[in-house]
Amino acid sequence: MEMLLPYLKAFAVGGAFCALGQVFIDYTKLTPARILVAYVVAGVILGGLGIYQPIIDFAGAGATVPLSGFGALLAKVEAGTLLHQGTHSTFFHSGMTGAAEIVYNHGNVIPVVLDNSITGMTGHQDNPGSGRTLQGDIAETLKIEDILAAYGYKNILIVDPQDLAAMEKAVQDALASTEPAAIIARRPCLLIKRIKHDIGKCEVDQDKCIGCKKCLSVGCPAVMVENKKAKIDPNQCVGCTVCAQVCPKSAIARKEK
Ligand code: SF4
Ligand code: SF4
Repeated sequence: MEMLLPYLKAFAVGGAFCALGQVFIDYTKLTPARILVAYVVAGVILGGLGIYQPIIDFAGAGATVPLSGFGALLAKVEAGTLLHQGTHSTFFHSGMTGAAEIVYNHGNVIPVVLDNSITGMTGHQDNPGSGRTLQGDIAETLKIEDILAAYGYKNILIVDPQDLAAMEKAVQDALASTEPAAIIARRPCLLIKRIKHDIGKCEVDQDKCIGCKKCLSVGCPAVMVENKKAKIDPNQCVGCTVCAQVCPKSAIARKEK
């Protein structure tokens, strides 16, 4: 039950947002487009007033996935803020223009590109950064760092997002940078077949685990708590070690195959 609670909260709150939208569609003359915009604006206002964050704390994805969550995120964007510029393919589809606008207009916002080396969202189509054409022929890769450098970014930090300490340092360095900075968090998607991935499994040492639940905070579906101790589902774990890096008792270790 403890494991199901976050899902129930997310479904209840997310479902309430959807139901409210449906009421507006059925009983008002507002068009769906206006309702969507209203959700974003409501999120900005509630986010700005600090009212939306408690809803996120309670419902997680149930509050961040609806458009009001996007609005609340917009309310947080301020000078020096990190700006998620999409994944690898989103950068090539639309993030590039935003990155150019930021540096050209002397914006104090740091683009962060989550570079998974493929188009994740729509089914692994190749794109200008994957090294293959849509027909599958080998092509010269457009490097994200070269594009950012050409735009005028002087401090481009390339980091493995699975290395939490390195990731944190990259964020701090970018925030402290006096020159235009950008972060590329690079780790190829595990589903890319032509890349040989380093996959393993992590396990929890039940004697060392104190049940603090810190490992749950990484949001990995393989991590759960059973009988007040953490447990990892071996069928879902790929051995990234992120949960192990946050464990204060070194209770999680990767087992080599
Ligand atoms: S973070 Fe470590 S000690 Fe805490 S619950 Fe997870 S495995 Fe146990
Ligand atoms: S090692 Fe990575 S994939 Fe495995 S349980 Fe921990 S966070 Fe999840």
